[in-house]
Amino acid sequence: MNNEKVSTNMTTAIIIDGKIIAAEIQNELSLTVKKMKTKPGLAVILVGENPASQIYVRNKIKACEKAGIKSMEARLPKKATQEEVAAEIKAFNDNPDIHGILLQLPVPRHLDSNALIQMINPKKDVDGLTFKNIGALVTGIDGLVPCTPQGALILIQSIRYDLTGLNAVIIGRSILFGKPMAQLLLAENCTVTQAHSKTKDLEHVCQQADILIAAVGQPKMVKKSWIKPGAIVIDVGINRQEDGKLCGDVDYKEAIESAGAITPVPGGVGPMTITCLLKNTIKAAQNQ
Ligand code: NDP
Repeated sequence: MNNEKVSTNMTTAIIIDGKIIAAEIQNELSLTVKKMKTKPGLAVILVGENPASQIYVRNKIKACEKAGIKSMEARLPKKATQEEVAAEIKAFNDNPDIHGILLQLPVPRHLDSNALIQMINPKKDVDGLTFKNIGALVTGIDGLVPCTPQGALILIQSIRYDLTGLNAVIIGRSILFGKPMAQLLLAENCTVTQAHSKTKDLEHVCQQADILIAAVGQPKMVKKSWIKPGAIVIDVGINRQEDGKLCGDVDYKEAIESAGAITPVPGGVGPMTITCLLKNTIKAAQNQ
């Protein structure tokens, strides 16, 4: 895979280019779709007008079109009730042209997002968040795996395929990312530490990591001194700075002086999330 090397006085970090890796995989996925008799269909449900969510949904639909996947969008107003959102999910569950359903998160606070997610037919659950798919992941059975951790693993394995025995530290324990990421790395025989807001001496914990993954939502929290020289660093965070630019949870400028390989923000994990959504939609269509 195409990863660029950046030299600093201290070390030569490989920049893991998520855009290039995502484009390679998306090309392969388009070829797969071309060969399919029934074209995969993805439905995206967006509740409210969250600007970031609107951009994510637009990008997902654009990527679907490019790959030959049909997409449908259901937009509901911010004040939509639980029953109204549930009715959309039910309609897509019953629609044979739709193989994947994605409820764009976060939903407005008055809605019970977990109850809504669990209404999605697990076969169409391309976000991998229903109990059946989470259970499959923990049990080691084939299922639909959440997109961002799935993408992060591909990036890690673009640097080193066999992860057996490596120490992996994940900062963050969300159901969307941290917990499934831990399961994926356990399945790759890593020794996994899951850190969170109550972890003591986080810097010391991170210094033990051969693979360090930050999914926190705190701009530039992870400093060079936290990173074991040569470690693979995956930055999942997306934070908007005061100047309007995006940055990750890792202090990238410092971190490249210690990391062996690192993902940039933007252009690292983000493009892989969309790619794995396409992958899951195709897989869901093939299984139905
Ligand atoms: P959540 O807010 O659900 O989880 C954040 C986690 O970080 C929690 O487990 C929390 O701990 C932990 N945390 C918060 N503060 C600290 C701290 N000071 N020290 C250690 N741990 C801390 O976020 P998500 O997992 O959904 O997302 C994390 C980041 O990743 C966000 O910036 C989000 O925008 C980004 N993201 C990017 C995606 C992409 O495609 N690139 C996709 C999904 C998310 P606790 O549990 O104790 O509260």
